[in-house]
Amino acid sequence: MAKDTTIRCSLCGRDKKETKILIAGINGHVCDGCVTQAYAIVKDETGGEQKQQLQYALTLLKPKAIKERLDEYVIGQNEAKKTLSVAVYNHFKRIAHSEKNNKEEVEIDKSNLIFVGETGTGKTLLARTIASMLNVPFCIADATVLTEAGYVGEDVESVLTRLLQAADYNVAAAEKGIVFIDEVDKIARKSDNPSITRDVSGEGVQQGLLKLLEGTTVNVPPQGGRKHPDAKMIQVNTRNILFICGGAFDGIEKKIAKRLNTQAVGYSASVNAAEIDKANLLQYVSPQDLKSFGLIPELIGRLPVLTYLKPLDREALRRILTEPKNALIKQYEQLFKIDGVQLEFEEEVLDLIVDKAIEFKLGARGLRGICETIMTDIMFALPSEETATKQYTVTLDYALEKLKNARLNQLKVA
Ligand code: ADP
Repeated sequence: MAKDTTIRCSLCGRDKKETKILIAGINGHVCDGCVTQAYAIVKDETGGEQKQQLQYALTLLKPKAIKERLDEYVIGQNEAKKTLSVAVYNHFKRIAHSEKNNKEEVEIDKSNLIFVGETGTGKTLLARTIASMLNVPFCIADATVLTEAGYVGEDVESVLTRLLQAADYNVAAAEKGIVFIDEVDKIARKSDNPSITRDVSGEGVQQGLLKLLEGTTVNVPPQGGRKHPDAKMIQVNTRNILFICGGAFDGIEKKIAKRLNTQAVGYSASVNAAEIDKANLLQYVSPQDLKSFGLIPELIGRLPVLTYLKPLDREALRRILTEPKNALIKQYEQLFKIDGVQLEFEEEVLDLIVDKAIEFKLGARGLRGICETIMTDIMFALPSEETATKQYTVTLDYALEKLKNARLNQLKVA
């Protein structure tokens, strides 16, 4: 009998003609059907793994431990780190609790958070760090691009599209993710008087967000962005998604000061007028101030955990350069190490970088630009030098020379 020379899938045995694609390996072939099926199995398994990891993170990390991990990446901001650690711990405890499905027990509310603090003080960094620590899907959404449904701009549901994308469209994983909504202060109500024109990018968006934050099933367009009428919607339940909102709330100090001066009872009763630290009024921020700023009470109610981030001072900026696990200076050292060069910085260079960041009001975000200005020429020349230098020290004179003609003003991040 003649030997069967038909090429077949080594897994299911299908003939080449019965498949769309047959991929050749070293000792066999695999068809498109088997690849698809195998992928589905892998996805399922890793989805479960993710859940397990979450449980693991939850059983392992108590608030103190969470804060310690945050300390590795975020300098200062102790109050915010403490609040976030507790909120996240409670959040996952709540998920575990509700999964037990004990109807008689007290239902725990969601602990969505709101961070108030100048831009570049670490709000996004905190949210990102916590998400990667827990190994849950994470996305950042910008509140300024959102508009009320039906108007030009993005619908609020697009926020969840990003989360789905971050979760690789694994809905179960996305439903336990973390969403950071930046610049919520920009969707403050435009004025207290109801005007003739609708406030579609302000109050309208706040109303839209309410629905997401409270925990319902939302129909999410898989592509996001503009409207795709034909796209099949994906249902996402937001009950267990942790929302963290952040905003600079420029000028909120005035509202805090006003409240502290005029209100003798209630929240501020514990803050004796004489003890008020006028230099850092943000620490007294209360939901009432957010309301005066223009957030609607319903939205404030769904962001029950309120905390603040301090402006970064010289000492904090100096620490940010060298201390976090992925500190800028450590990154440069690593880059040079890969080329076999030991890189060192004179202490005065680090002080100079901080001085310039303060002088030009660049904040923590500007540190990188200043470092690049100093380092670009060295990084350009050093790798091709004939006599491979094994050690290089960035001196103050060299840094001053590089910064002399640099237009640091242009490094300002809006
Ligand atoms: P925000 O969200 O408050 O505007 P980010 O979290 O995006 O600011 O901070 C911008 C960058 O500045 C971060 O990526 C980080 O490199 C640095 N940074 C800001 N604050 C801190 C901090 N407290 N500790 C360490 N790095 C920080």
